[in-house]
Order: sequence, then C-alpha cells, then structure tokens
Amino acid sequence: MRTTKPTARTPMPLDTRTLIVVSLLTAGVIGLVLLMTWSINRSLSALRYWSGAFMFYAAGLAELALRGEGPVQAWNALGVTLLGTAHLLVLFGSRSLSGKSVPWRPGGLGLVALVAAWFYFLLVEPDFSRRYAAYALFTTVTAGLASTELFRARRDGWVSALTVLAALYGLVAVVNGVRLAYLLTVGGGDGVLDTGPAQTTHFLYANMLLVTVGICMAVVSTEHLQSELRRSATYDRLTGVFNRGAFVDLAEKEFARWRRSGSAFSILLMDLDHFKRVNDTFGHAVGDAMLAAFARRCAGHLREGDLLGRYGGEEFCALLPGANRQQAAAVAERLRRDVAAMEVQHQGTVLSISVSIGVAEIDVSTPDLDSMVACADTALYRAKRGGRNCVMVTEPALAV
Ligand code: GH3
Ligand code: MG
Ligand code: MG
Repeated sequence: MRTTKPTARTPMPLDTRTLIVVSLLTAGVIGLVLLMTWSINRSLSALRYWSGAFMFYAAGLAELALRGEGPVQAWNALGVTLLGTAHLLVLFGSRSLSGKSVPWRPGGLGLVALVAAWFYFLLVEPDFSRRYAAYALFTTVTAGLASTELFRARRDGWVSALTVLAALYGLVAVVNGVRLAYLLTVGGGDGVLDTGPAQTTHFLYANMLLVTVGICMAVVSTEHLQSELRRSATYDRLTGVFNRGAFVDLAEKEFARWRRSGSAFSILLMDLDHFKRVNDTFGHAVGDAMLAAFARRCAGHLREGDLLGRYGGEEFCALLPGANRQQAAAVAERLRRDVAAMEVQHQGTVLSISVSIGVAEIDVSTPDLDSMVACADTALYRAKRGGRNCVMVTEPALAV
C-alpha cells in the first residue's frame, strides 16, 4: 500500500491588491449606510461629511487598486487627492458636531500643499519615501485635529461612541506619525502595492479600522437622535427652560426629598400681564421674543439648583430649594422690578412688560405638589386682582 507523505505547505502570502479591493468595497458600503442614516436623521450634518469621506476613501482605494505595480503609478495625484479629501471630510464632520464652521479654505490649501509636495517628490526630486511621508504628515495632522474635535464634541447622552471614535482617530494620528518618522529616517519600500508584511499588515489594520469607525459613526447618529428626543421631551423649544412635564417631574422629586429630610422649598408662579395685548398689538412673533426674553431674565435671578419651567402659555413656575417664603418673595420682587424695567426693541418701538407673581412655601398643610401650586395660583390671582405687576405670598398654615 502506498502512502503519500504530507508535504510541507508554505502559507500563501496575503495579496495587497485583494486587501485594497476588500477595503474599498467595505468603505463604499459604509459610505452608503451613513448616507441612508443621514437621510433619516438630517439634523446631524456630520453624517453627510462622514458618508462623503467613506465614498472618497473608496474611490481613492479604487484608483490605487487599478494602478500597476510600482511607486510612480501607485501614487498618482488623483489617488492622493481622493484619499486626502476623505481625511479632510472626517475632520469637517467632526467639527460640525459642535456646530463649528467647516474650514474649507485651510483644508483646501492643505490638500493643495499635499498634492504639490507629491508632484515635487515625483518630478523634481523623485523620492518614494518623501512622497509617502507627505501623505503620512497630512493624515497625522487631519486625524489628530479630528480626534481633538471629537473629544471636545462629547456631550451628555452621546458620550460613548464619540469617545471611541475620538480614540480611534487618535490612534490613526499616532500610527501615521510613526509611519512618517519611519519614512523620513529609515525610508519606504518599493511601492504601495508591495506584498510584504508591512503593507499587508497596514491594509489589514486599515480594513478593521474602516469597519470600526463606520460602526461608531452610525452609533453616534443614534446617540445624537436619542439626545435630541430627550432634549425636546425635557425643554421648552421657545424659551429653553424646562417644559411643564419635566418641571413637574423634578419638582415632585423635590417634594419627596422634603418628605424625607424636611428641607424646605418655595415656588413662584408667574404670569405675564396683559400678554394678549402684546400679541394683538405687535404680533405673535414679538410675543414669542418677549417670552424668551422674560425666561432669560428670570433664569438670571435664580441660583444654581433652582428650577425654572414653562408651566403654560405665558405662565412660568420656579422652584427654589432651601428658600422660605420671605426669601422667595425677595427673589420674586427683584425679578418683578427687573422685568418691569426691561425694554424690548421692536421696529424702533420700545416695548415693556410686567409680571405678576404668586409665592408659596411648602409646609405641613401641603399634601402634594399640586396643592402647593394651587396655593401659589391663589396668591397669583390676588396679585392680578390687586392691579398686576406685584408679588403676593401665601400665608403660612398653622402647624397641626
Ligand atoms: P393677564 O394679565 O390677566 O394675565 O392677561 P393676559 O392677556 O396675559 O391673559 P391670559 O393669561 O388669559 O392670556 C395669555 C395669552 O398668552 C394668550 C395667548 O395668546 C398668549 N400666549 C400663550 N402662549 C403663547 C406663545 O407661545 N407665544 C405667544 N406669542 N403668545 C402666547
Ligand atoms: Mg396666563
Ligand atoms: Mg397673563
């Protein structure tokens, strides 16, 4: 019986061009996914830039894969421009997260400088390492800046994916910085399409990075959407203060705290005087501007830890933890005077407004928050009947 001797097999080397094709397909798919994500969540403009970045990256890699072997053909100006644009778009998107302007001009100049350096080291002083080093420098700078912007853009509610993304771009900056130093000191290989361990490892790393970055960007979009929903469910759009639901939730927590610890608090119920007239005379838009101006003034009179909510149309409620009725009345009086002195400019006319305020302090006769608001409402009613533009305080209940 014949037996065949197992032959030792050398593992097939990974082919760089195949890895690039895999990366470009991956980048194209991620670009499309981000574009679709943007189409359903248009408030996050970063997604547009990031989607574009993946598309440009895919196109740059396509150019690379289509070129013949060797340094000159591999690193042509088109490929460098496409890949450089991809890196710039990542930076632009990261800046737009914080509402910052997109630096088209410096970004464009940087890209021009990169292409100019590339041509210089191709035609004037042909040097593959330096050509590649120019690109490594460009990516180090753009990735470093993108990482910084991403770290800065972290806000409550959508921290996790942004942190990972910022760390990933920090990694990109470091890897490219190391490549840059290596290229300038040791020098590069023969070409980008080398099937040596350095190039194949680089493209494997790039492929993994693409997928991770793409997923993180999609998660950032979900977190952003969640935070927008949370914000609109919590804050009043016109005035930026808590809406009624959120205010009542927080005030009820304060009420429960009072039950446990007995730490007092007071509330102010405020209603703008003759507000219908403002709307009727100057229009709803002016009324809206007045409401926003009032809310800003009001917030300016409160301490940290106090709560301000829009209770109804032109009715606001403030909760002052730790304040008794005298202290709350003093705050209310200062606010009333300030509002009466407030001037809002409208088409050359100076408009003014006043506010009536009812003050109530929690005490043994207060079974729940609603009844406390009702007490403040009674005081407010007295303020209106007393001629408006004044502060009325509820009387303390007799302890039982
Ligand atoms: P009073 O001194 O008795 O409070 O008189 P008033 O005119 O303020 O009376 P009332 O409280 O009944 O009227 C409130 C008006 O506030 C009616 C409504 O048109 C206006 N209003 C409510 N919400 C808004 C808003 O979001 N924007 C604007 N511009 N007006 C609002
Ligand atoms: Mg009212
Ligand atoms: Mg009113």
